[in-house]
Amino acid sequence: MAHRLLEEMKLVFRTEHPVLIYPSSATGAWEAAITNLLSPGDGVLVFNQGFFSERWAEVAERFGLQVQLKPWDSRRGLTADAVMEALHSDQGHNVKAVLVVHNETSTGVTSDIAAIGDALRASKNSTLLMVDAVSSLGATDFRHDEWGVNVTVTGSQKGLMLPPGLSFVALSPKALTASESAELPNSYWRWQDHLEFNEKGFFPYTPATNLFFGLDEALSMLREEGFPEVLERHARLAGAARAAVSAWGLESYPLDPAESSDALTTVMMPDGVDADEVRRIVLERFDMSLGTGLGMLKGRIFRIGHLGDFNTLSLMGTLAGVEMGLVSAGVPVNTEGVSAAMAFLLSENKVDELES
Ligand SMILES: *Cc1c(COP(=O)(O)O)cnc(C)c1O
Repeated sequence: MAHRLLEEMKLVFRTEHPVLIYPSSATGAWEAAITNLLSPGDGVLVFNQGFFSERWAEVAERFGLQVQLKPWDSRRGLTADAVMEALHSDQGHNVKAVLVVHNETSTGVTSDIAAIGDALRASKNSTLLMVDAVSSLGATDFRHDEWGVNVTVTGSQKGLMLPPGLSFVALSPKALTASESAELPNSYWRWQDHLEFNEKGFFPYTPATNLFFGLDEALSMLREEGFPEVLERHARLAGAARAAVSAWGLESYPLDPAESSDALTTVMMPDGVDADEVRRIVLERFDMSLGTGLGMLKGRIFRIGHLGDFNTLSLMGTLAGVEMGLVSAGVPVNTEGVSAAMAFLLSENKVDELES
């Protein structure tokens, strides 16, 4: 089973290189990426895309790395230009890695990793590209090898539909080479130990075998539906959720719909409305838990999750709960969101799921 899972996870990451599995949350895999690749004093470049990018930067900081946390408009996807500009102004070439969150779950903004990877490769810059794909893998197109990512990190409880408790790292040949000379101390996270044991279908310590049975099933569900179909479903449901938000007369946090997440939709509240009060009412009246605003977005937004094991009717139930909640909370909205979402789903080429 271990051999099968390790092989099949490569298909999910779109890589031909090793994928490792840890019995940890995704935060552990952040630490694994950092401690296997970097040395004391190395520079790390991070843009403040939102709560999760800040948390990852904090992990790097705790290891004594020289973290450059750059301000960023979190309503927009991180651009390759911004990354390259920051690297060009790094005169001493101290920056050894750039840490990017593919889908910032706190803002609902997705960044163009392909463009960042291309720019890095085109510039022949040796900086390692580390990507957090925790809430994008299995929901949004992601290609570890093709996009030139050196380490991709994910967890079990998002697009992989499992309970929390497993994390994953996908490596590149460049990352494997860099790990041989990295000097930050690590033990539990050490790639070399995993690689040696994994070859024989084992792990350097007790793996979370119970979750492996779940992962085996999750992978077969993804295979059964078809990976392109899974991604298409997420895009379609996200489009319907956004149609509801604009029909309510509300604004979604991402400024560009093209950068809007397929995994979740973030809804901004009008001035003077506490998003957590809306969430409280929805939970109390309809037994539905919406995501809270994280960090600086606390109280300003709520988040509608639509990733993983989710379909048209689960989305419509969710949107109905949100619409009723908004009305109950006295938020001034047009009560046309649910019907706008249905119209979106029934429009051209969107009826296949209903027919089957
Ligand atoms: C959930 C999440 C994490 C943290 O994952 P844990 O499993 O809680 O450690 C990191 N990054 C992103 C983008 C996430 O959505």
